[in-house]
Amino acid sequence: MAAVESFGPDRTDIEPRSFKKYAPKDGNTDRIGIICEDRSTMFKGVLTHFKDRYFVCKSTKEKKEICCLHTYENNEPRYRVGGAVIQYSTKMVDGKEKVTGYEILPWIFSETVYKQLIACDKDFPLESHDVRVTGTKKGFLILNIVPCPNSIWSSNTDLKKKVLADAIKIRENIGKRLATDLSITEIREQLNIDAPGSQDAAADVDVTDIANTL
Ligand SMILES: [Zn+2]
Repeated sequence: MAAVESFGPDRTDIEPRSFKKYAPKDGNTDRIGIICEDRSTMFKGVLTHFKDRYFVCKSTKEKKEICCLHTYENNEPRYRVGGAVIQYSTKMVDGKEKVTGYEILPWIFSETVYKQLIACDKDFPLESHDVRVTGTKKGFLILNIVPCPNSIWSSNTDLKKKVLADAIKIRENIGKRLATDLSITEIREQLNIDAPGSQDAAADVDVTDIANTL
């Protein structure tokens, strides 16, 4: 349970639990561009686990923590990655695609999507090429990502300036939206390790041996 806190009007990190983000939909194709000033800082990412929600992996190179040692479906940490994207609204005019508007949004995605993006980047660098994202539902949403021949947002100096400025705040907040940074105690609760009647797998075996095989 969250604790009740006291604070004054200077606090600015209060925001709704659900925030607006880019969300590809089944049957839709969106043209988007990944916004960045420098390709080396295009994305933010962190190793996470999933159990009812995404939470940050607590293990270090030296020490495996309970999030990786306990036996559950997602005990192998995986990256969650995010970036700021521009989603264009377009319509076809005389056979040509015309941009009618745009929205700048955070986009949080999995390792799988990241791999699809870097596959596009190989021949069509993402800082200078938009991509088209098509969603297809096959139990869960599968994305098909193909590069565009150019980037709309970065091809016009004024637009580029405006988009970069508008994306700053979104990019700053992506880190905390990737996953929740739980304490070890909270992770044990999340994994039901301390719940009555539950078994702590790590307590039954020699943890050193597990750590050595990981
Ligand atoms: Zn972990």
